Amino acid sequence: MDFSYTPKVQALCERVSAFMEACVYPAEAVFARQVAEGDRWQPTEIVEVLKRQAQAEGLWNLFLPESEYGAGLSNLEYAPLAEIMGRSLLGPEPFNCSAPDTGNMELLVRYGSAEHKQRWLEPLLRGEIRSAFAMTEPDVASSDATNMRASARREGDQWVIDGRKWWTSGACDPRCKVLIFMGLSNPDGPRHQQHSMILVPTDTPGVNIVRPLSVFGYDDAPHGHAEMRFDNVRVPYENVILGEGRGFEIAQGRLGPGRIHHCMRSLGMAERALELMCRRASERVAFGKPLAQLGGNLDIIADSRMQIDMARLLTLKAAYMMDSVGNKVARSEIAQIKVVAPNVALQVIDRAIQLHGGAGVSDDFPLAYMYAMQRTLRLADGPDEVHRAAVGKYELSRYLPPRA
Ligand SMILES: Cc1cc2nc3c(=O)[nH]c(=O)nc-3n(C[C@H](O)[C@H](O)[C@H](O)COP(=O)(O)OP(=O)(O)OC[C@H]3O[C@@H](n4cnc5c(N)ncnc54)[C@H](O)[C@@H]3O)c2cc1C
Repeated sequence: MDFSYTPKVQALCERVSAFMEACVYPAEAVFARQVAEGDRWQPTEIVEVLKRQAQAEGLWNLFLPESEYGAGLSNLEYAPLAEIMGRSLLGPEPFNCSAPDTGNMELLVRYGSAEHKQRWLEPLLRGEIRSAFAMTEPDVASSDATNMRASARREGDQWVIDGRKWWTSGACDPRCKVLIFMGLSNPDGPRHQQHSMILVPTDTPGVNIVRPLSVFGYDDAPHGHAEMRFDNVRVPYENVILGEGRGFEIAQGRLGPGRIHHCMRSLGMAERALELMCRRASERVAFGKPLAQLGGNLDIIADSRMQIDMARLLTLKAAYMMDSVGNKVARSEIAQIKVVAPNVALQVIDRAIQLHGGAGVSDDFPLAYMYAMQRTLRLADGPDEVHRAAVGKYELSRYLPPRA
């Protein structure tokens, strides 16, 4: 087995790393200040500056495998780049590689009509607008995508949309111009053909943000996670993606690449936490010794390194399989890494917090925010348990008698 990256990927890794060092890490404090100083729900100037810089350097839209729109990288090639960007919570957006836009853009590339692509995909690719994905609802267990109850009713050449959604990430940002809305359109159809995905411009009358939700007290401004109400929202019938009743099919397709990007970024965050842990453990002295030499701290550092490396290999394996045999055959590996990556990152970040003492839970270091962020990933695109169920069922299926 050859674990090395190709020269093309190696060169990109060096360029993305250099951009992170020169531009992104120094901008973290500026970003926090600009959000705190102004209207929290307005985009910051610093991110727009970084976007222009990254675009000028050709470090733009590096995701999007198998598409004429992206940089022509496979999932395997993109993985180390996403990991480097993931080291900072500010990292992915300057490269136009942030969630939920990457997942939404992939969805539009794969399933959108020519008109959808022209109206929404192209400005998204240029970084002029942002988007959100409105599936989850407060009133139903949304880990089961067939449960959604917000309705999309056809009336002539229009959809009429009503209902509540929440955790619509990114919808609070004024740059968010379009939602991919999942609604119950064919309640009498077969269970997996009852929902449609419909493009809803955010300025359509009846689209309302009820409130921004917080995550462990963080509001993630200006991006935010919105609770939303849709009251008699009317959009053209052609805004349906792929076709009526095909929402569940699209939801399944979207979970592949978009979600594995989160895993790649989780590894970056875990690496940064380990780096901070090692620096703190070497520099700070207690009981006459550096923290690294006290108790089991060396083992803690070693365990973190081993877990990150194991998680990376599993991520790369999932990416390799997506590229070589397709998302369907790779479904167990995709589900495995969705459980493993955020859980490993959480353990490493938690240990780094502990080694930082009180500083670890403050906002003087990025660790507390990173912890909050990684903890939500164990829910955000489906709870761990749902992915475990997929892995378990796949394993069992290999040993079931043919007719069982
Ligand atoms: C920060 C954040 C961002 C998000 N962003 C978005 C977004 O942009 N768009 C969007 O549509 N949604 C988003 N979500 C919502 C997320 O997708 C849902 O929270 C998730 O799918 C779970 O749905 P639920 O909250 O209704 O939990 P429920 O479905 O009520 O599940 C609750 C719990 O039940 C248990 N459970 C469920 N199924 C099983 C099972 N098969 N086996 C065993 N136990 C099970 C699990 O413990 C699970 O955590 C986001 C969530 C967060 C926290």
